Amino acid sequence: MQKEYTLESIQNFEGKYPKQLWYLFLTEMWERFCFYGMRGVLAIFMVSQLGLTDQESNLKYGAIQAFVYAFTFIGGIFADKILGFKKSLFFGGIIMIIGNLIIAFSPQDLFYVGITLSIIGTGFFKPNISSMVGDLYKEGDVRRDAGFGLFYSGINIGALLGGAICVYLGKYHSWSYAFLAAAIVMVIGVVTFLYTKKYLGPIGDSPLKDLAPAKRTTREIAVYVGSILSIPLIFAMIKNTKYTDMFMYTIGPLAILYFIFELLKVKEDAGKKKLMAAFIFIIFSIVFWAFFEQSGGSLALFAEKNLHHTLLFFSIDPNIVNNTSNSLFVIVFSPLIGLLWLWMYKKKFEPNTVIKFGLGFLFLSGAFYVFYYTRFFANVEGITSLNIFTLAYLVITIGELCLSPIGLSIVTKLSPKNLSGMMMGMWFLASAYGQYAAGLLGAGMSSPDPNASLMTKLQSYTDGYYQLSIYALVAGIILIAISPLIRKLMMEVK
Ligand code: GLN
Repeated sequence: MQKEYTLESIQNFEGKYPKQLWYLFLTEMWERFCFYGMRGVLAIFMVSQLGLTDQESNLKYGAIQAFVYAFTFIGGIFADKILGFKKSLFFGGIIMIIGNLIIAFSPQDLFYVGITLSIIGTGFFKPNISSMVGDLYKEGDVRRDAGFGLFYSGINIGALLGGAICVYLGKYHSWSYAFLAAAIVMVIGVVTFLYTKKYLGPIGDSPLKDLAPAKRTTREIAVYVGSILSIPLIFAMIKNTKYTDMFMYTIGPLAILYFIFELLKVKEDAGKKKLMAAFIFIIFSIVFWAFFEQSGGSLALFAEKNLHHTLLFFSIDPNIVNNTSNSLFVIVFSPLIGLLWLWMYKKKFEPNTVIKFGLGFLFLSGAFYVFYYTRFFANVEGITSLNIFTLAYLVITIGELCLSPIGLSIVTKLSPKNLSGMMMGMWFLASAYGQYAAGLLGAGMSSPDPNASLMTKLQSYTDGYYQLSIYALVAGIILIAISPLIRKLMMEVK
């Protein structure tokens, strides 16, 4: 007879990780392959195939990234209110598959239609799988952060493979193959989920279980139809970056208003306070991502022109290092840091979440200081050390690991069950703003004269990195200084 999975039996797992975490890990890994595959080819594809200039392509890249993350907020709300996480995931996955197949069919003609579907699909998929990871743990289970650490490795395995394979296929074989590969792995992700979702028991089931089935189905269909109907609107918005600005100015304030509306509905004082604490973490994360995401913009340009091609004893393209070192470091260090937190907990000196966040900023600051410091290793032409650059990536990754998986974890700890999708969506919406701000920061840092010497470019970028280092330090200090206040809001949550 098949074992019945109840919430209790799932959450009372033995060992370090629940087995369901591995299934969600695998599903998310393929989704991230698909997402980072698309992201990796985006800018080059738009320049070489759609005839955009570098600048237009950069702007559009930023807009698409911002849109993808902004839609997680909407996907999270619909999951909380109508679909539940499981159905959202399935729907999002299918939409992502169709989006990539459409582009694969005719990359030059149908690119924007396919991207629009990817935006909607990711919106339904990404926040909700993370919320399900949170549901695997009981309140107060100290293994939760380590679980998110492992899950984060899965994210980065997918990111690394997707980024490498899709770029390789696109550049050296055919763009259709690149998008087809993304579609195929997404099929693997969705099938993995379908086969393993029974082990999740009630986790991610419909929030409308008590509603008559006919009514429930009507609402679900309304969400599906509404999403499809919004395609032309999103399509228009990504085609014209002016609309993206308008969208970004609107969605944030609307999200905050909606958050306040939900906050006021929460009856208990403790619940309200926890939500406010989550909100503070989310606001700080915007600053973190705005700096961190220089990797896709200014650091990529810096890597292209200002770095030697030697890492330790071998020769390598600095852009490959720029695109892969973060994921590689995450894959190696994320489970280790997760286990370090557990060990520190047992020894009774594990830092609390606010301090971990603060540490994230201090490492971020350290990393940008190292990026700045590369200028002291430059030759007369303005070309500097790839080794020091890679070291900075190691430091920034440690910072990311103190903040990003911990952030996912804390959002699940602080959100009431009926709002966890929305809150996870807000967490990623902060990433959308981070991406958006990253582009503005990067543009501000680059030398205004495109024909400037490499030395001038080096100085201009590293001056910018120095500033970021100081700002990150200030943010970290503020966070640590106000940590008693935030901890009060967090109540019993650690
Ligand atoms: N790299 C992580 C992921 O893809 C975090 C992204 C983010 O929140 N900006 O899930």
